[in-house]
Amino acid sequence: MIKKSLSQNFLIDHNIAKKIANLITNYSSYNLIEVGPGYGFLTDHLLKKNPKKIILIEKDYHLFIKLKNKYKNINKIKIYNFDALKTDIFDKIKKPKVIVSNLPYNISIKLITNWLPNIKEYLGFHLMIQKEVSEKFKYSEQKKINRLNLLAYLYSDFKKEFDVSQNVFFPKPKVLSSVVTFTPNIKSKINPNEFKNFTRILFATKRKKILNNLLRNNNYKNILLEKNMNDLDLEKRPEDLNFNDVIKLYTSLTG
Ligand code: SAM
Repeated sequence: MIKKSLSQNFLIDHNIAKKIANLITNYSSYNLIEVGPGYGFLTDHLLKKNPKKIILIEKDYHLFIKLKNKYKNINKIKIYNFDALKTDIFDKIKKPKVIVSNLPYNISIKLITNWLPNIKEYLGFHLMIQKEVSEKFKYSEQKKINRLNLLAYLYSDFKKEFDVSQNVFFPKPKVLSSVVTFTPNIKSKINPNEFKNFTRILFATKRKKILNNLLRNNNYKNILLEKNMNDLDLEKRPEDLNFNDVIKLYTSLTG
């Protein structure tokens, strides 16, 4: 039975699975982590490349049992019945490691923003996500910033690999998809978790002024009352800042 609550849209096109598998180079030395392997459609293509090890993390117990059975004779595959949002298994897997996934779309943003601050531990992430979400991760100086392109730019080089039509899934999703790659490229050495919380507050309401968003948080409210922040224009909207402005604002508040 298909579980909509787990965003179960299974890949049924071998060419797309092959194209995703081809994004990874040097299989023999990497530990691959696949999130939400489903019935193992993409896993089979990864396996054909003879990887060192594949770690599968599947939340659906029914699928977990099917995968256990399917791969029972393959020692290099380890399968866990975990929620990818909650598990700390990612930290325990030895380097060099890569995350590859046709992600559950209802939690794709949450998973990626969880992983990005730790991206230096990985060679990269190759992920299928909604096309619309992939657009939000794209950073350029000409484009307005949002929380996602800011975090993506701070920690990585982001690349859209190719778009994917609805027809290659069962059941067919309502939205188009894109396969994207995040490769580590850390552009500032600020505390990753503190900065992530700061961006959540800064972009809480993107149409509101920066000042109003920051004042909603007691910690920043106290800092703003105590510190002279005259050199920063807090009357702007967060989306009117550029990458360097945000870093400057964050360091002024926390430094
Ligand atoms: N990789 C398979 C494929 O391409 O056919 C399935 C992809 S399907 C879009 C998403 C998969 O993620 C499903 O198998 C679903 O059960 C699993 N899933 C959903 N939420 C999850 C979570 N929090 N942790 C781990 N797996 C999850």
